Amino acid sequence: MPNTSSITPGDIAPHVRFLSHDVFEGRGVGGRGEELTVEYLAAQLELAGAGPAGENGTYFQTVPLVEIKTQESSSLRLAGRVLAPLTEYVGNNERQTGREVIDAQVVFVGHGITAPEFEWDDFKGFDVNGKLLVLFTNEPPSEDDAFFGGRALTYYGRWTFKFEEAARRGAAGVLIVHTDETAGYPWEVVRNSWSGAQPYVEVQPGEPKLALAGWISSDAAERLFQSSPATREMTLGGLLDAANSKDFTPIELEVQAQADVRSSIVPIQTRNVLASFPGGDPAMADEAVLYTAHWDHIGTHGDGDDPIYNGAVDNATGCSVLLSIARAFGESGSKPSRTILFAFVGAEESGLLGSAYYAANPVVEMGKTAVNLNYDGLYPFGRTSDVSLPGYERTSLSETVEALASEFGLTLTPDAHPEQGYYYRSDQFSLAKHGVPAFSIKSGSRYPGRPEGWGEDKVAQYRERHYHQPSDEFREDWDFAGIADLARLGFELGRMVADQPELPTWKEGDEFLAARERSWQ
Ligand SMILES: [Zn+2]
Repeated sequence: MPNTSSITPGDIAPHVRFLSHDVFEGRGVGGRGEELTVEYLAAQLELAGAGPAGENGTYFQTVPLVEIKTQESSSLRLAGRVLAPLTEYVGNNERQTGREVIDAQVVFVGHGITAPEFEWDDFKGFDVNGKLLVLFTNEPPSEDDAFFGGRALTYYGRWTFKFEEAARRGAAGVLIVHTDETAGYPWEVVRNSWSGAQPYVEVQPGEPKLALAGWISSDAAERLFQSSPATREMTLGGLLDAANSKDFTPIELEVQAQADVRSSIVPIQTRNVLASFPGGDPAMADEAVLYTAHWDHIGTHGDGDDPIYNGAVDNATGCSVLLSIARAFGESGSKPSRTILFAFVGAEESGLLGSAYYAANPVVEMGKTAVNLNYDGLYPFGRTSDVSLPGYERTSLSETVEALASEFGLTLTPDAHPEQGYYYRSDQFSLAKHGVPAFSIKSGSRYPGRPEGWGEDKVAQYRERHYHQPSDEFREDWDFAGIADLARLGFELGRMVADQPELPTWKEGDEFLAARERSWQ
């Protein structure tokens, strides 16, 4: 292993122990837990020698958010039939106004995807302005890596994309038809995650948004389709088959949707923590290598024995790695050509909001951000002989990454479940959406000296017993050797990218290269 920096397990463990202490109250957004967390990070960055990169010479970037809750007085009527909230539909007004009234034609638009690089267009020029769209989540099934990523989910298949694309096209609203098969989870999951107040990044003037963005249960969707002359004879399965064909064209249901969406809107704030080491080459110092880790977790809930969600693995580990990398840059003596930038982002657990806000309001513009290396949820189970960097292979850095990993004696383990779309569920995705080559550096699963499958079992155990639970707590018997390796790997990779002449890019044909061209933001 190259002796690239002095990062040791002992540089990481104390930060994890401290940041996951009960005194941080689960690092929820707003309040005392947040204040303690961001002040600690800023102090540690200053000690490491990294300068403030936030507003007014501070380490902080204020992130204005709003919490939206759809009121019980709201209503939705499809083809004359009133739907039961939470049982038959869920939805929010993304426009962040107190009330939106919709009276619109209903149109079925298949998957609701336009992807020129795959020669796919569900809209076929059909004008959906002012319409209420019903569609399926997920994407056309494929075994061909060059077509919708093969088995892997692309961003086109994520439900968030459907809302964004429909809003860009001026639709009034979207109802995603829920099926267990296309969503990958039962209706209860949709219902639970949409039943409380939800935080959003504050809407910008002129930004296209939906008056109703939500889901409809499969029973309610079946009734809707049966009420229309155009789809009366079709089952949900038949409609999905139609949507999976390249020749699909939108189907006008010739029924009306009437919605009265009333919302409470509460402004809240969170903060990103930003720090940098300015680049040493005046011609390249306006470009940056960006390290990210979310500092937030899910706070304190309920009044049981242990209401505090400490988030030791998720994501005190990632924050601690970034602090150790900052210290290594501070101590390294030599200045990389490009700027080294650190963003500890908030409100990740609410939907990548801190990183989305940063990407829209960056301190180094997105086109000049060379790469984003993200750390989220690393496993303190000891040293591995492998590492996982899902997405690296889609960037021009693939050979650099492979050579460096092998210098570290690490093999590269591919994403075990690309169909789950984990890539889209951590902060690197907020940067990728703006075209920045971005990926997470994640723990491998092969532990030398342990039996085959030991690592997978440990992770399965963690996910079942501790993930997003109060028991994600620091343990004195944890072994941080593997995490220290990943910190050194990230430090070295960042330093190499900061000095290489060319800015990295996504490979030709990649959806995120398309994102940069079509401004998905
Ligand atoms: Zn996380």
